[in-house]
Order: sequence, then C-alpha cells, then structure tokens
Amino acid sequence: MNYLVTLFLCASLMAQAPAPRPSAQIPAAPLYDLQDALLEWPLAPENRAYAAIDGKRLHEYVSELAAISRRYRNQGHPQFWGRIIGTSADSETAQWVLDHFNKLGLSDVHLQPFDLPPQWMPQSWEITATGGGKTLPLNSAQPAYQTKATSGPGIDLEAVYAGTGSEADFAGRDVRGKAVFIFSMPLPGSWRHTATAEDALRRAETKGAAAIFAIIALPGNIRTQLYPTRTNVPTFSLGMDDGYAVRDLIGKMPAGQAPHVKVRLDVNMEPGLKTATVWGTLPGTTNETIYVIAHRDGWFESGTDNASGVATMIGLAEYFSKIPREKRRRTIVFAGTSGHHNGGNFSGTWLLDHRDELFSKTALMINCEHTATIQTYLLGEDIRMANMHTGMLWYAGGPQRPKLQAIAVKAFHDAGVVTYAAPERAAPGGEMSRLWPYVPGVQASDYNVFFHSDHESPATVPWTGLQATARAYAMIIDGVNTLDLKDLQRPPETPPGRAPR
Ligand SMILES: [Zn+2]
Repeated sequence: MNYLVTLFLCASLMAQAPAPRPSAQIPAAPLYDLQDALLEWPLAPENRAYAAIDGKRLHEYVSELAAISRRYRNQGHPQFWGRIIGTSADSETAQWVLDHFNKLGLSDVHLQPFDLPPQWMPQSWEITATGGGKTLPLNSAQPAYQTKATSGPGIDLEAVYAGTGSEADFAGRDVRGKAVFIFSMPLPGSWRHTATAEDALRRAETKGAAAIFAIIALPGNIRTQLYPTRTNVPTFSLGMDDGYAVRDLIGKMPAGQAPHVKVRLDVNMEPGLKTATVWGTLPGTTNETIYVIAHRDGWFESGTDNASGVATMIGLAEYFSKIPREKRRRTIVFAGTSGHHNGGNFSGTWLLDHRDELFSKTALMINCEHTATIQTYLLGEDIRMANMHTGMLWYAGGPQRPKLQAIAVKAFHDAGVVTYAAPERAAPGGEMSRLWPYVPGVQASDYNVFFHSDHESPATVPWTGLQATARAYAMIIDGVNTLDLKDLQRPPETPPGRAPR
C-alpha cells in the first residue's frame, strides 16, 4: 500500500473513531475470525455416530436463510424487513424447507396453505427531533408491532423525558399530548426490558402521551422490533445512542422550552396474503410418531430466531434420513411452521386444534427454536462476544416424565449444550408454548441481547452451538425410542401461572 493511501486511510479512520471512553475497556484488533476460534465440545467415543451432524454445514443454512431476509429488504423494504409472514420472503423460506425435505427423500412432502387476515405492514416512517437549532434524525426508531399509524404528514409533538417511566418519574411532569421518551433496561434484550416489565408504556399513555419511545439501553444504536405493546398511540423502540441524543437535547433546552418531535408512520393493512406449514415425513417401523418443528419466520436476518432452529431441524432430517428405516422405531414428522411474530400462530393453532388426532401416538415433540447464539457480555459500554455458545432455557417434559428428563439431561451434557441450572416449568415459549401441555415436549432456547434486532446476523450464531443442540436432539430421539408411550404420554397439564409481583 502506498504512503498516501495509508495516510488517507489513517486520517479517515481517525475521523470516524469515537472519542475514547475512559469507563470502558477498549478491545484491541481481533487475532482471529471468531467462528474459527469457537470452543467445540468433543464427543465421547460411544457417541461418535453423532459426529455426522456437522455444525459448519448447519451454519451455511443459517446464512442462506439470512440471505432471504436481505433479499426481501433490498426489494423495496428497507425499514420493516425479515422473513415476515405472508411476504415473498415467507414463501421463499417455505420453498427452501420444501426443497430440503424433497432432496432428503422424505415422504408426503407438501405445503399446507393458510389464508391470512389483513397483515400490518408498515410502509415507511420518519422520526426527527428538533431543538436549539439542531435536528436529529432518529434512524434507529422502529414501530412496535401493530402500533397505531399516523395520517398524512404525521404529527408534531413536544418532547419530554420520563426516566424509566415509573409513577415516581411521572410525578409532577405534564406529558399530555407529548412525545414521551422512556429509558428501558434490557432484561436482557428487547424481548423483556424494564419498560414492558413495569408497564411504563401503558402508564405513559394513561397520563396522556401522544407518542411513546422506549429507549432500549443496549450499548450502541441497535434497532429492535418490539412485540405489540398494547398502547393506542404510536409506540416505537429506539437505540441507545439516539435515545441519549434526544434526552440530552431535552436537557440542554432553556427553561420552559422543549424540542419538537415529528412522527410519521405509514402502515398498510394488506389483505389476501397467505402462509403455510411445510410438512415432510420420515417413516419408521411403527405408526408411533415423533414431531420435530421449527418456525420459519423472523425479523431482520433473524439468525438465532429462527434460522438456527430451521437449520437444526434440517440437520436432524439429514441425520435420520441416512439411518436405515428398519432401525427407526418411530415415524418422524417434520414441520416448518408459519411462526408467530405477526401475533397469529397459524400452523401452531392448527396443530393445537388437531391435537387429539395428531398426538394420540406421539412419543416426543422437539421444538427447534433459537438453538444457538454466541455468548455475549455487557462490559462497560460495549457488547462483547466470547468464543462460546450461550446457556439455554430448557424444558424436557417436566417432573411427570422423569425418564425423558434424564435422557435430555444426559444428551445436553454429552453433546455440549450449555443449559440454565434448572429447567423451566413449561416450554420456554414460541411454537411450543400452547402445545407442551398435550405432548412430551423438549426445547432448549436462547433469548439473547440481540433477540429481534438488526444485529441478529449469522455472525451471532455459533456453528458449535448449532452442532451441540442438533446432536443433543438426535440423542434424545434415540433415547426416547428406547421408551414406550406409557413412559412418555401424560394427561394434559395446566400451565403454571406466573407468581404475582
Ligand atoms: Zn422464535
């Protein structure tokens, strides 16, 4: 590289580099590609058959699924994008799963279509804050799912900062008719955060807010997609950098003055869209069944949620399709489900409605959902990645099925799945959340800091974690095939309630 080019690069890097932050550790340049440096759990000699499940291959599937999302984004959907139910990205993902099932020679491979009610599809939005001669474009703002649109050119509101949005924060503050900004601590991301845990968004609305912004305090300016907030005014999430910039703008205004926020959100309710369940069957030697499901939808690249799960399901289909039929005790039914990010769980509702006929001879259902994420740590003002996969929330049939729990615990250990110290009292969530009372269910899922954000890329999905979870699920299927239905099937359970707080 010649001297002038070097000088130019140095100068432009210096121009972009943020000012040093004394409170944070500043990492040096990495010495290796993180995916090459991940710790891989070794298999014991007696488990070497499971080495056929190759995490690097599964990671390629995650990348292919993420590419479907980016293609959709690049086809005129720069703000609200992903493998969104009812869109071309949904049908492309369904076809991708269908092609894999066909390639593996599964039986009865087909799409089961569903008509969707009109779908909430934000077309575009723009949020700016102006005050003290400054205008801030709040580019990380993302409308909460199904939030109320504005009409025409939008609304122009006075801005007010309301701390964490508790009663104490609102005391003595008039927020009526204003744009209310609330600081929300991630627990650990946008899936759960203090503004929703403490009902701060609805409190802001009750106090008269005309628009609400939840500043999700993940270091950086991460864009997150919130589930419905049950508010009736336009409600957005906001990255931390943008949120702090507005807060500081409010803080610097002369007494009695406030910045103004322009809010425009155009939404179409799109009729006539369709989605589907993608089915494939691997016949065994009996008519007893094992279900393996994975939801196909997700926001942004949705690397963990749920490209990881879909890749895991395909990995299991590959593994068991190579085992001779006479050695497969039970028929394995695979289903790529429509998913639930639009609030309407079509495949899941159909499974629930047909549970008596579908699950009368079911020994196991594995829900492949969020099966791998790279371990992250909040350190100072950074999110730092480590060379390990995260610990998972997990459930393996509950205390009524001690043999299934024992099989799962051993499989998670032998395959190197990191798990929370205790299981959940029910399936951790998602596609299994309404099915587990009726089937012997197994699910290990991660809900991480990048969850539902534009940072949830294939780079945040470790091939080692994909490999460990897929191998563990294969071990669990083999383990369950040594048990009879009477060891697994139980009367329907009542979901546990959450303790009042
Ligand atoms: Zn999910």
